[in-house]
Amino acid sequence: MLESAQQLIRRAGKSLNIDDADIQSFLDPQHVLKADIVLKDGRKFLAYRVQHNNLRGPYKGGIRFHPAVDLDEVTALATLMTIKTAAVAIPMGGGKGGIVVHPKSLSETELEELARGYVGAFVDKLGPHKDVPAPDVNTNAKIIDWMVDEYEHLTSDKSKASFTGKSLSNGGSQGREAATGYGGFLVLDEIMKQEKQNKSTTFAVQGFGNVGTFFASAAVSAHPEWKLVAVSDSSGGLYCENGLPVDELIAYKKAGNKFTDYESEGVSHISEDELLRVNVDVLAFAALGGVVTVDNYTSLNTRYIVELANGPVDDEAADKLGADSTLIPDILANAGGVIVSYLEWKQNLSQESWDLERVNSELEHILIKATREIIEEAELSNSNLKEAAYRIALKRLLKENQ
Ligand code: NAD
Repeated sequence: MLESAQQLIRRAGKSLNIDDADIQSFLDPQHVLKADIVLKDGRKFLAYRVQHNNLRGPYKGGIRFHPAVDLDEVTALATLMTIKTAAVAIPMGGGKGGIVVHPKSLSETELEELARGYVGAFVDKLGPHKDVPAPDVNTNAKIIDWMVDEYEHLTSDKSKASFTGKSLSNGGSQGREAATGYGGFLVLDEIMKQEKQNKSTTFAVQGFGNVGTFFASAAVSAHPEWKLVAVSDSSGGLYCENGLPVDELIAYKKAGNKFTDYESEGVSHISEDELLRVNVDVLAFAALGGVVTVDNYTSLNTRYIVELANGPVDDEAADKLGADSTLIPDILANAGGVIVSYLEWKQNLSQESWDLERVNSELEHILIKATREIIEEAELSNSNLKEAAYRIALKRLLKENQ
């Protein structure tokens, strides 16, 4: 992942005639923080915070709790945050953190101790104007609330702007939960409008979790004529030529049911492979990275590919996609989440609490502007949307800063 992120940056840097030495020093994170967090019972957990770049504002990025966390992964994700925040022009930088832990192996009290320990280990380097972490894999508003409480306790800062992704009653923002999926839809819709693709649309979604469900429901609520013809989660996939009932499927999953048990007239069960092959206008990936590779990219039968997850189409496959498909890159398609995190931070700093309408209107403004700029950059530089997004980010970070 790190190699791929760096490769994309080098390539964009070259196309912008940025000096190799400048690119190399940009690739190196500004700070790599490491600490052992020791619980009361003596167990030790390795924690990282990589502060990649703060040229445009405080470091911003999640903290994940996962046994596979390692320095390369955290560095790659921190680097991508720098590019993402710059590509959508929010005044924040890039960071990422993690603890090497299997969170299910801890009791709730131990999890709280670990979360508070993370803040204690890095407290001097965190803060509203230094580094503003957020939830990520296996971390959530409850864990962030513990972290904010610990930060307040250690520093007396009461702004709550030291972390985002807090619970609503603790300074969190309206609209955060839906932001990534909703943002993905806004970007797709804008690109389709620009390409004058206004016919009735069929779409498929791999991964019907937080991001996938908000994406699908935003799509059918804005365009009731659009049809979700295929969907999958880790339990399996469903297909219906006439369109699947989005709200019903969301309620079905919320009730703890599995797609494998879903039965309805006209609905068939499909495999992961079949989902990739389905003939649709839009295929959105909202599960994992590395799903589409050189070995299977020719199976895709879609006009638009929306990368809601990070890196679902690997770079080699992305390079081989023909002109008849448009890849909407992750750093744009899933930027809604970090944009609303930025809006949460802004509300905390000004001690305001905006309603959902205001949050969504600011999100729409930022994302649509960024989408238009990236489309324009792609046209002017004769590149695809991914390269254009990296070019815009690097111009903001390196070129126009010189
Ligand atoms: P989630 O855990 O809520 O949902 C993931 C979904 O993917 C689940 O429904 C799961 O069953 C499904 N899934 C897992 N393996 C699958 C497979 N092989 N085939 C089909 N479905 C599969 O996670 P989420 O928050 O919706 O995030 C989805 C992706 O988007 C992740 O890669 C995440 O890193 C990325 N992302 C999320 C956010 C955010 O704000 N939540 C922001 C940026 C990127």
